Amino acid sequence: MNAKILETENVTVSFDGFKALNQLNFSMDLGELRVVIGPNGAGKTTFLDVITGKVQPTIGRVLFKGKNLRSLPEHQIARLGIGRKFQTPRIYLNLTPRENLEITSNRNKNAFSTLFGRPDAAEKNSIKGLLETIGLTIKADIPATLLSHGEKQRLEIGMLVAQSPDLLLVDEPVAGLTDEETYNIGELLLALAQNHSILVIEHDMEFVRQIARKVTVLHEGSVLCEGSFEEVQNDSRVIEVYLGQQQE
Ligand code: ADP
Ligand code: MG
Repeated sequence: MNAKILETENVTVSFDGFKALNQLNFSMDLGELRVVIGPNGAGKTTFLDVITGKVQPTIGRVLFKGKNLRSLPEHQIARLGIGRKFQTPRIYLNLTPRENLEITSNRNKNAFSTLFGRPDAAEKNSIKGLLETIGLTIKADIPATLLSHGEKQRLEIGMLVAQSPDLLLVDEPVAGLTDEETYNIGELLLALAQNHSILVIEHDMEFVRQIARKVTVLHEGSVLCEGSFEEVQNDSRVIEVYLGQQQE
């Protein structure tokens, strides 16, 4: 059996009695790329909040590599190796993509190497490689403010990777992107999935079709069903909960 990188056991999150997550049981394997979908209000963002420690489960527990995360503060959970990309990019617009990546990877080094300035050769190589992976080599030295929305998203994914987390959490990375930019993000996540465990929350079904291996459908705070993209797409319960949303 594969080692589990993430498990939730019976996780319930109540907000004044309203259950945003309701006895949620979920697990993913080390090295897996998992996509979580579900209609608006299904609890997707709350699910990420409960993994990162932003929200505590009212009942149940979250295990990361077998370790119970209960009561750990967010920064400590991040340090254990869980990185999160939020919906809107949080990059330094006045700095270049290269500088953005340098800052992020420096932050994770010991203070000693940062004190003496200049990134060392190995790090330069890894930043060079990362710029290639995110497709920003030719734009590496222009202010990030000049990047398109999709390029900013790719840069932020690069910054997440620069922190070397064991698990990457990515919340709706293609919201508001053009088809071409959406496709690029998909290819980037597929490339990263070769050596990372990634949990992606997404709405855009074309995008899910592009990247999906195993898909989990959340509905009213619980897992409605799980399977391949085709299995999930043809599941009558899934069709039912999505029907009300199609007209949006
Ligand atoms: P999704 O990301 O799937 O759209 P959310 O996790 O954001 O769903 O929200 C799930 C449900 O929980 C929604 O009905 C939302 O209104 C509610 N909710 C989320 N956060 C809070 C909160 N802090 N207080 C009260 N209700 C919340
Ligand atoms: Mg959400």
